[in-house]
Amino acid sequence: MSWFKRDKASDQKLPTVENGERKVRTEGLWQKCEGCRQIIWKKEWEANWNVCPKCGMHTRLDALTRLKLLFDDGEFEEFEANLKSSDPLKFVDSKPYHERLASMQAATSLSDALISAAGKLAGRPIQICSMDPRFIGGSMGSVVGEKIARAVERAIERHTPLIIVSASGGARMQEGAISLMQMAKISAALMRLDEAHLPYISILTDPTTGGVTASYAMLGDLNIAEPGALIGFAGPRVIEQTIRQKLPEGFQRSEFLLKHGMLDAVIPRLELKAYIGTSLKFFLG
Ligand SMILES: [Zn+2]
Repeated sequence: MSWFKRDKASDQKLPTVENGERKVRTEGLWQKCEGCRQIIWKKEWEANWNVCPKCGMHTRLDALTRLKLLFDDGEFEEFEANLKSSDPLKFVDSKPYHERLASMQAATSLSDALISAAGKLAGRPIQICSMDPRFIGGSMGSVVGEKIARAVERAIERHTPLIIVSASGGARMQEGAISLMQMAKISAALMRLDEAHLPYISILTDPTTGGVTASYAMLGDLNIAEPGALIGFAGPRVIEQTIRQKLPEGFQRSEFLLKHGMLDAVIPRLELKAYIGTSLKFFLG
C-alpha cells in the first residue's frame, strides 16, 4: 500500500478554500512538488523556505514566514495588526463580505491581506509590508492601502527604506471603487517617500496581478521578482481576445518580463535577502 494513496470517500470530504481552489491534503509529513512531481519531506521543504530542494520551484509563502525570511534573526515589530475593513458597501457575493472577512481572519490569524512591520535587514532599520496570498487572494482593499500609507509615513519619520512584498490577485472586488482608490493613495504616498530620498524596493512574488501590478508593485526604485512568478495586469485570455493574437509562451512570468525590460532582476528566494542588503548599500552608502 502506498503512503500517498487516498481513498475516494475521504476525498469527497476534503475542504475547499474560498477561491474555489481544491486543497489536497497529504498526510502532513510529505509535500508533492508541483514542478518536478517529486515527493519532498515537508520539513526539508519548509527549511528551504518553500523552495523545492530538487528542482528549485518556488511555492507561495505566507506573509509571516516571508517577514521571518527577510528580517535579521526573524525579529520585527508589527503595526496596525488589528486594522479591519468596515465593509463600507455591505457587499454580498456568494456570501456577505463581512462573513468572508471573519472566516479568513479566523483561518489565517490576520486582520487583512498584509502585515506591516519594522525591523532590521542586513543591520539597517527598515519597514517591510508583506502580502498574504491566502487572504481573499491577497487582494488589495482599504486596509492594505491604509497600512502601506502608514508604513510610508513611518519610513519617512524614521528615515528608513521601505520594502513591499507583493502577492496579490489585484484590487478587492468586495470593496469596489474604494479598493481602486488605494492605487492612487499608495502611489501618492510612495511619491512622498521619493521626495524624502528614501529607497523603495518592490518584490514581486507569485502572483502579482491586476491593480497591484498597475500601481505599487511596479513603482519600486528596484523591481525584483522571484523566479517563475506570475506577473501581469489582465489575464492571458482577456488579452488574447482583445488583441486577437496568440500570446508567446510564458509571457506573464518573471523571466519573460525581465527579458523585456519590465523588471530589474529575478532573484531566487534564498538569495533575496543578500541581494537587498547589497542594494541598500548602493542606495544609502
Ligand atoms: Zn521540484
